[in-house]
Amino acid sequence: MAQRVQGTEDLFGGYMRAWQHMQDVARDLFGAYGFDMVETPAIEQVDTFVHGIGESTDVVRKEMFRVVSGALFENLLGQGSEAGLKPKQRLAMRPEGTAGVVRAAVENNMVPQGAASAKLWYAEAMFRGERPQKGRLRQFHQVGVEWLGAADPAADAECIVMLMEYYKRLGFDSSPLKLSINSMGDAVCRPAYRERVRQFILDHADEMCEDCLERAEINPLRSFDCKNDHCREVMRDAPLAKDNLCDDCAEHYAQVKRYLDAAGVSYVEDPTLVRGLDYYTRTVFEVEAVDGGVGAIGGGGRYDGLMELEGGKPTPGIGFAVGFERIALALAAQGGSLETPQPGCVYVAGTSADEREAVFSATLALRQAGVRTEADYQGRSLKSQFKQADKLGARVCVVIGPDEVAANAVTLRDMETHEQTQVPAAELVSAVTERLAK
Ligand code: AMP
Repeated sequence: MAQRVQGTEDLFGGYMRAWQHMQDVARDLFGAYGFDMVETPAIEQVDTFVHGIGESTDVVRKEMFRVVSGALFENLLGQGSEAGLKPKQRLAMRPEGTAGVVRAAVENNMVPQGAASAKLWYAEAMFRGERPQKGRLRQFHQVGVEWLGAADPAADAECIVMLMEYYKRLGFDSSPLKLSINSMGDAVCRPAYRERVRQFILDHADEMCEDCLERAEINPLRSFDCKNDHCREVMRDAPLAKDNLCDDCAEHYAQVKRYLDAAGVSYVEDPTLVRGLDYYTRTVFEVEAVDGGVGAIGGGGRYDGLMELEGGKPTPGIGFAVGFERIALALAAQGGSLETPQPGCVYVAGTSADEREAVFSATLALRQAGVRTEADYQGRSLKSQFKQADKLGARVCVVIGPDEVAANAVTLRDMETHEQTQVPAAELVSAVTERLAK
């Protein structure tokens, strides 16, 4: 039997409805904040991610699923390397949403000079070649937002407030959620800070892992979230970004906190929060479900240099992404669920094959009126049609037998009380909708 790829999931039934519910809540809430939906291709040029996420990140170095056409694959097997490929032939499945959305914003000139900012949200599958485990998949789903063209600290605070409201609407109590924030500085203060951290790592070279020594040269800040516990322990004494911010970054960070306080959002400052991707500047944040045991359920930050890295004009930006599968796990750990009940339906039952056409017409009429309607397509007995109707959660059954056909009428059966009433066929839709509204 063919099997799905390890670390991927099929979404169907209640789980699929849960994913749709996450999108519905996002559409309502993010819409109120002025965000429009966007969808970018699942495959992009490798360079889009290299420029944005950073050459030295685990995501780019180890986790991207690379894509080649069949013909190119044959060719590569022959050559044993991709060295001769042009940039447009080097493709990867998107491991995250921001780089692609920013590439799309640049390519489609979504933030013309002097115009309003672009506020976009997406709900998409992401692909990372990680070792699958609970809450860590190779294809997972994220809802995310990107706000391009807003530099003000109020934008950072609005994003965070909106994110926390999103969790609330998905069914989380705010108390078991931990929001951590930090500032990572900008192009003015970060280079000197990076150098201080690099020097710190080199001074502690004998205590750090190979990866961290390599990181010291390419991106020393990543050592703050090294997977190795001992490295993280050593890094506790490393210089902290918050003590190395330039005046503008310090003021920006202070203002973000003032806005969050004014909005009544509680947070903890985590000076070692650096996040896995290189593009962040100034504000970064992450949310964890305290009892979930599934790690971060969302995070984001400001990325003021990213538009330029993707070939656009200097444009500030900020955004976040929330992982569907982890949200579902974290809610389940609290005894909650993202799943919404299947809306109730109406069942149309015929007593024999002779009523097929009348059943067919009644079913169509109800569906055209927007009523979720089911009927029997397997020639079941009336009794088993009623059983099926119960199973589907039907509140009303429309019964059509020879008497009804002769009288140009239908019988409505209340599935709870089993009370039956005959109504003229012409009143089918109004009689059913009236009963459903009760
Ligand atoms: P990131 O882009 O790594 O900040 O991820 C944002 C959110 O996506 C995380 O907080 C998780 O909820 C989710 N996420 C990231 N990686 C995975 C994965 N491999 N499997 C499932 N969810 C993930």
